[in-house]
Order: sequence, then structure tokens, then C-alpha cells
Amino acid sequence: MNALGRHILVEFYDCSPELMNDVVHIENSMVAAAETAGATVINSTFHHFSPYGVSGVVVIQESHLAIHTWPEFGYAAVDLFTCGDSVDPWVSYTFLKEAFEAGHGSSMELRRGQLNLLKRTDFNLEALRDVSQKPNDVPGTITRDVWFTERDENIALSLKHSGNQLYKKDSDYQRVEVFETLAYGNMLTLDGMVMCTQKDEYVYHEMITHVPMFSHRKAKRALVIGGGDGGTVRELLRHEQLEEVTLVEIDELVIEACKLHLPETAVAFDNPRLNLLVEDGIKYINECEDGRYDLIIVDSADPVGPGEGLFTAEFYQQVHRCLTPDGVMITQSESPRFNSAVFVEIYDTYKQIFGESKVHCYLAAIPTYPTGTWSFSYSSKGDSSPLIYDKTAAAKFSKEQGLKYYNEDIHAAAFALPNFVKELLNKGSQEIIEQYSAEPTNE
Ligand code: SAM
Repeated sequence: MNALGRHILVEFYDCSPELMNDVVHIENSMVAAAETAGATVINSTFHHFSPYGVSGVVVIQESHLAIHTWPEFGYAAVDLFTCGDSVDPWVSYTFLKEAFEAGHGSSMELRRGQLNLLKRTDFNLEALRDVSQKPNDVPGTITRDVWFTERDENIALSLKHSGNQLYKKDSDYQRVEVFETLAYGNMLTLDGMVMCTQKDEYVYHEMITHVPMFSHRKAKRALVIGGGDGGTVRELLRHEQLEEVTLVEIDELVIEACKLHLPETAVAFDNPRLNLLVEDGIKYINECEDGRYDLIIVDSADPVGPGEGLFTAEFYQQVHRCLTPDGVMITQSESPRFNSAVFVEIYDTYKQIFGESKVHCYLAAIPTYPTGTWSFSYSSKGDSSPLIYDKTAAAKFSKEQGLKYYNEDIHAAAFALPNFVKELLNKGSQEIIEQYSAEPTNE
């Protein structure tokens, strides 16, 4: 060959948007395309961007294969770069055209490093040779570097995963996926947003349940809207005093995915005190009788998709109606740092319905949620205050139950808010929101 390398620039069109957004399929196909062409794969690094798009590279002994996809256009830009004669990049081209179900592909081959244009310089090859044995270099194994990325407007969270997609189904409401992350265990995502991971779900689930249970000492009936991963009811059912816990989850695939791949979170689904309903929580609360529940927990995802209606004044009004006279509503109330505009708006709504002095905000550190700082709201219909609680009982319970986050001190500490959160809650002006919001405030 009269050149060092062959570089084929490829454009694949009319590919299935599904496949163009499937990081696991794309990574597997790119690695297989290299191997089929006779290349020796060194490692692969792939990123799935949310809401969509994949970028990745397969490093081969004979150079690299790279890809960037635009699922929204059914389009992929692929680079096939090989050096030497042992690998035929066109074999990879044909393999990938099929693997991506491309309607058609266009390509251009460039000869890279035309020998007649190059002048070899004499240098001591031995001095350059890297003889160091990489730590866990097992010949023939490739190091895969596949990343899931939840990307919002201005911030993103990336988690390395094994590349094996444990669960992926589209329900009528959302895409339900489970990834096998290396740092946080199995991770449930809905429409590309992290819902919970095996390694930090306890923070969210212990704080959304035990804070109200130790301040509302007489709760007998609890309702959870959302929460299809099962973590919230698992924690509630630790409290023997609860005679009935009802879970209303709109999407049965979330329950299925968690039973299969997050069993510790889904452990209480067969508890005899649990009334598990697969139904729209908005319809359920609209049809629910007045004053039925001591505690209503809104364990929803973000205010998008099926969960949007769970962030409206109408919905909270219905929740208020269904609470007993001294009932308490707890919600996951987003992050003061992430989307401050949404944070301020939902607290203003709670205050209109429950009254300014009856609404409290508390925080918890959840590493896999945007900004890592998440909030919960505590709104009481009666006079129960979150800071009047049985500390001794809370300490005993936390110890006996082997809780990993909640205890009698964090219960109080969680309500000690930093000044910027107080400012957002008390003044909440556009200027203050823009000062603190990580995401654009769309005003
Ligand atoms: N901890 C998570 C978070 O903060 O993002 C939320 C966990 S949980 C998985 C959220 C659940 O709410 C999802 O399973 C979703 O299907 C469910 N959901 C969304 N809209 C709903 C509705 N209208 N009625 C009942 N469940 C709903």
C-alpha cells in the first residue's frame, strides 16, 4: 500500500432511530465490525447522551473505528481508519450498514499518510518502545468503556456501565431501562432519567418515609403515588403501626423491571399489608374518598411525561381533600440547585393549598440525582410539625432496622436549610432563581 492508512468517511442514512440511540447495540456492532474485518480490538469507549445520541470509538491495533449518531435524523457519521494491509475496512462498512439497517450509505476513501510525501526520520526505536505491561492487560480481552449520560441543558451525569443492557422496554408512558453500572450497581432509568440505583436508593426512600412517620405518630393508612420501584413502600412497611399501605403506580413495567433487577428495592411487593394498584395516580386521587389517608407520599419522577399532572395545584388540592384532618403530604420536590424555577413554583403551590406555615422543605444528598442535592416537602393539613418527633423512638428504629441514612439527628438536620434555599423559598424572585438555578429558567 503506498500510504500508511486507509480512512473511509461514511455517512449512513435512513437508519432506525431506535438503533441510532442504542449504545449497547452500537458498541457491540462497532466491535464486531472491527473483528470481522480482521482487526485486533484494544478497547472501546462509548457514550449514550440523553435525551438521545451516541458517540464512541473502538481503538484497534490497526488504528480506530469511530461513530457519532443523530437518531432524530436516522443518521450516523462513521470513521473507519485502518493501517497496514491485514484489515479491510470495507468489510466493516458492509457489516455496519447491515447492523444499523441503513437505508443507504455514502462513503469516501482517503489514503492517509501518502508515503511519497513522507520522509522517514532516523530515531532510536528502542528508546521509544513502550515495554511496560499495562496493569490488567489480559491478552485478547478488550476494555469496554461504555457510559450512560443523563444530560440536561447545562449539566450532565455520566455513569460507566458494563455495556450489558439488563432491561429495556417501552411502555405506553415511557422507556423503562435498567443498566448495570460499575459504581452504583443496577440503575433504573425512565426516558433516560436516573430514577434509582442499588447503591444510593436508600437515601431517597428512607428520607421520604421515616421523617413523616416519626413526626406523624398515629399514621395508620398511607398512600404512595408513583414509587413503582418499591423502595418507598419497603420503608413504610417497616412500621408495624401502619395497617394499610396503598401503592398506585401507573406503569407495570417499572414494577417488573425492579422485581427482576432491583430486588432489594422491590422486596415488599408481596407484603400482605400492601395494596398494589397499577393505575393513574391522578384518577385514583380524584375518585378517592375525603379524609381517607393519614399520610400521602407523592413519589413521582420529574414533572414531565406521565408525572407532569402530579405537579399541579388541582392534584395537590385533591391530595389535601383525601388527607385526614391531621394528615401529612410528602413529595419529592426536585432540587433547589438544579431547576430552581420549578422548585419555587411547586412550593408556592403547596403554600396556597396548605398554608404558608404548614409547608416545610428538607434536603438530602443523593449522588446520582442532578446536582446531588435533592429536596422533599412536608405539608401538614393539621398541626403536625416535622420537628416535633420522638427522637428516642427514631434512634431505636434506625438502629434496629439497620438504616443507612435516616437517624434521629439527620431528621432534624435535613430541615436546617442553607441561605440560598431560604431565599428561594421566601422571596423566590426571578432574579434569585436565575442566581441559583443550574438549568435555564426559561424567562
Ligand atoms: N425517585 C424517583 C425520582 O425522584 O425521580 C422517582 C421514583 S418512581 C420510579 C416514579 C414513578 O412514578 C415511576 O415509576 C412512574 O411510572 C410513576 N408515575 C409517573 N406518573 C404517574 C401517575 N400519573 N400515576 C402513578 N404513577 C406515576
